Amino acid sequence: MDKPFSVLIVGGGTAGWMAANLMAKYWHGQGVEIALLESDQIGTIGVGEGSTPYLKSFFRTLEIPESEWMPACNATYKCGIRFPNWSTATGYESYYHPFFSPLDREVGMEFFRNANLRRSGLDVPANPTDFFHAPFLSASARAPVAAQPMPFEMDYGYHFDAGLLGAFLREKARSLGVRHIVDTVEHVERDGDRVVAVRAASAGHIEADFFVDCTGFRAMLIGGMPGYRFREFSDTLYNNAAVTVQVPRDDDAPLISETVSEAMSAGWMWRIPLQTRTGCGYVYSDRFISADQAGQELREKLGLADETRLNHVKMRVGRTEQHWHGNCLAVGLSQGFIEPLEATALMLVQFTIERFLERFEPGTMDSAICREQQGIQEAYNLHINELFDGVLDYVAAHYALNNRDDTPYWRAAREEIHISERLRAILAVWDGDSDFDAMLEREGAKLIYSGPSWYCLLAGMGRFPVRLKADPARRGDSIDAVRAFCESNLPRFRPHQQQLEALEQQ
Ligand SMILES: Cc1cc2nc3c(=O)[nH]c(=O)nc-3n(C[C@H](O)[C@H](O)[C@H](O)COP(=O)(O)OP(=O)(O)OC[C@H]3O[C@@H](n4cnc5c(N)ncnc54)[C@H](O)[C@@H]3O)c2cc1C
Repeated sequence: MDKPFSVLIVGGGTAGWMAANLMAKYWHGQGVEIALLESDQIGTIGVGEGSTPYLKSFFRTLEIPESEWMPACNATYKCGIRFPNWSTATGYESYYHPFFSPLDREVGMEFFRNANLRRSGLDVPANPTDFFHAPFLSASARAPVAAQPMPFEMDYGYHFDAGLLGAFLREKARSLGVRHIVDTVEHVERDGDRVVAVRAASAGHIEADFFVDCTGFRAMLIGGMPGYRFREFSDTLYNNAAVTVQVPRDDDAPLISETVSEAMSAGWMWRIPLQTRTGCGYVYSDRFISADQAGQELREKLGLADETRLNHVKMRVGRTEQHWHGNCLAVGLSQGFIEPLEATALMLVQFTIERFLERFEPGTMDSAICREQQGIQEAYNLHINELFDGVLDYVAAHYALNNRDDTPYWRAAREEIHISERLRAILAVWDGDSDFDAMLEREGAKLIYSGPSWYCLLAGMGRFPVRLKADPARRGDSIDAVRAFCESNLPRFRPHQQQLEALEQQ
């Protein structure tokens, strides 16, 4: 019998365990031996507790129902993200980036129409918070889960405890046959473009046919590949650090189903509501504020005592050029990171693994097939780079669009950041009188974020002409009907707390 194809995943953070599960599931019965090695000396990053709706398909692929993983991970539902204080435009001091659902079809059309009318200089309301179901659901502490079956599925994401999710996925991966090794890699043995083995402190030399680098910002394996290049995003995204804290949940307060990402003096602060606690963190640029000042601002904002212990994290923001290089795939923080404003990191982890699994055939590492493999690798890397760059544009747009004037940070984030040609073109079309939908269609999937998301961001930040005229057709009046429609649908959805309790009992 042929020797099994061996894969060694180095790193047991969320990325490592997500990779282990997906690989074990996908390659089941194909003679692939998967091991995951993680250090008990080097911790995980310990943050990363909000997702996009894409995470739903991760659990679906693994056939893990919400009733199994959500109670185990202190998880809650997420209808979208609320952004207070990013804009000072009247009526746009806070806006919402919703996850969309088929229920939004008609109200969404009203929103796009109003946004375009306002772009053209007519004074009609166009804050997305007023038009979509998600903000209404989260404001009324409801889950995006219908009490009675509906003919379509709602789009939503999750919040969860990163540590508990890691532990949950570890047990799942073990049950799928992944071998778990606790050790610390001290050296990586290479032969040209190939990783041959790692040398671990206790186990010594560990060989494998393929390696997955999930070592976080250390990028221990991919970072040492010949010709390794890392594209920094620091001239576009200034934030490079975060200070975090967990606060107990106020049991008397309703459990909202949204992330709040509030602008601060030199960055922004997230609030992620879990079942028993709220995860908070201030993401900032250390060029504009020190770690101590950021900590103090966070404490004041949350009303915490001076002695409250805070956790400080440094962020390496950018991406590698080659996520898959030779027989090594980088997944997670080791491949790159875009600051967490839109909670996209785990979505990129999932894309990276899934697109890889679609292309890679275990057992094809011999030199004849390697040449063909190289073409596949190049196309793959280009694709993953496009994903990162698309997310970068969307996140960078938040800063480019801000109109705060209160601190040097916000002025610099608007006036000095480098933005891509594509983002520049998006802003120019929005600001001018060209057809914005045609632009979105032209750019298509390359934008990564959908047209409705771009509308929500541009309109939500209040990016409209300063002088507006009344609309003689009074089309803005439809806002009352839109609100009434969204509110009338609320009883169709379960209260958030009740839905979580129901999951627990299943
Ligand atoms: C401030 C902040 C907020 C974030 N918020 C979000 C969010 O809301 N949503 C989201 O999707 N993502 C978010 N992220 C990103 C998210 O945290 C990560 O993508 C996710 O946790 C995966 O991390 P990782 O597994 O790549 O790395 P890590 O968690 O750092 O894990 C690295 C692993 O490698 C192991 N390791 C390292 N060196 C060695 C060695 N020499 N030998 C053996 N093992 C080793 C460690 O033991 C550890 O197990 C955030 C990140 C930051 C910094």
